[in-house]
Amino acid sequence: MTEANRQSRLDLIRAARTMAARGLAAGTSGNVSLRVEEGVLITPSAVDYEALTPEMIPLLRADGSHEGRFRPSSEWRFHLDIYLSRPEVGGVVHHHAPHCTALAMARREIPPCHYMITRFGGGTVRCADYALFGTVDLSHAVLRALVGRTACLIANHGGLAVGHDVFAALGAATELEVLAQQYLLSLQAGGPVLLSDQEIHGAIEQFATAYRPNTGG
Ligand code: 13P
Ligand code: ZN
Repeated sequence: MTEANRQSRLDLIRAARTMAARGLAAGTSGNVSLRVEEGVLITPSAVDYEALTPEMIPLLRADGSHEGRFRPSSEWRFHLDIYLSRPEVGGVVHHHAPHCTALAMARREIPPCHYMITRFGGGTVRCADYALFGTVDLSHAVLRALVGRTACLIANHGGLAVGHDVFAALGAATELEVLAQQYLLSLQAGGPVLLSDQEIHGAIEQFATAYRPNTGG
């Protein structure tokens, strides 16, 4: 294991533990991965995040085979397929957070109810069609729901977000849960007034210009 690979394993473990500590994934639900030179590092299946050590992290190769003593996450297919089809993605976080999952159980997408939805690439966060967990069918459904987006819900299952690295993906997965919660609360308050296409377009423009990264320069 190179020093860089070891550091990536430590980053993966930190991201997975933070996901659990934020209440986004109870028990061993959810899974986290990141792209490395050698392939994809992913959390092992059905292992408590607190018990993880760098040596326990499986390395997935592009052909679906893996290195390491521990079985990779049952959702390795959609993680791998996302990396293969989205070169800009460096990290993927999947969780069963309560508000995302409540909407996903109702098979409802998140509509343009808040300008922050544009953070995920457009005016909606889609809900991927139902498919059995850990299957190629689920991977196809997730990829379809992610077209032009950095997050989706997964029917009767949970939520998922991607980012340029694993911490960006974790941030997006956390904000996705907040947006799902806000939408659900709004439904209880009589239902949101939805933003128009033009208003969503304006928010996308504003993020790209007025709200660009603030680097102190
Ligand atoms: P794994 O423990 O195999 O990653 O499964 C958890 C999960 O969320 C399945 O969808
Ligand atoms: Zn899951």
